[in-house]
Amino acid sequence: MKQKLEWKTEGENREEYAREDLVGEADFEIDKEAFAGPFTCHGKKTKLANKRISFKGIEFHYSVWHCTSCKKEYLDTKQGTLLEKFWLIKRLFEDKCISIERNMNYDGRTYFFRFPKELTKTLHKNDIVDIKLLNPDGKLFLVEIKSAKGN
Ligand SMILES: [Zn+2]
Repeated sequence: MKQKLEWKTEGENREEYAREDLVGEADFEIDKEAFAGPFTCHGKKTKLANKRISFKGIEFHYSVWHCTSCKKEYLDTKQGTLLEKFWLIKRLFEDKCISIERNMNYDGRTYFFRFPKELTKTLHKNDIVDIKLLNPDGKLFLVEIKSAKGN
């Protein structure tokens, strides 16, 4: 069952998204604590296996730690991060991303927009905003909030 999350924006418009859209689409255990395999499953060390997925001609190679007893696959942090990037690109292509529309503000010198309050709970004042320009007209960006050291 999809878990629905919702929040209200300043304009009282209700926005919803399914939690499933945010998390991975495959059945993996991503172990955030463990930084590297091999992991232990069913009393044995898991074996490294190469995997390949493709989407719209983009081919992506990664590796998983495979348990020969229960067939469970484990991703280490590095491979998990790589795969999350692939899913991000896939969601972008499929137009499945959560989309939030904000009004542009201008204070006479600077353009800015406000984040919905519900999305700012994990943000801190000194966080770094990493902005990647995605197209030459300066109207498409990928924005990533990076925690400042010490947060
Ligand atoms: Zn197992």
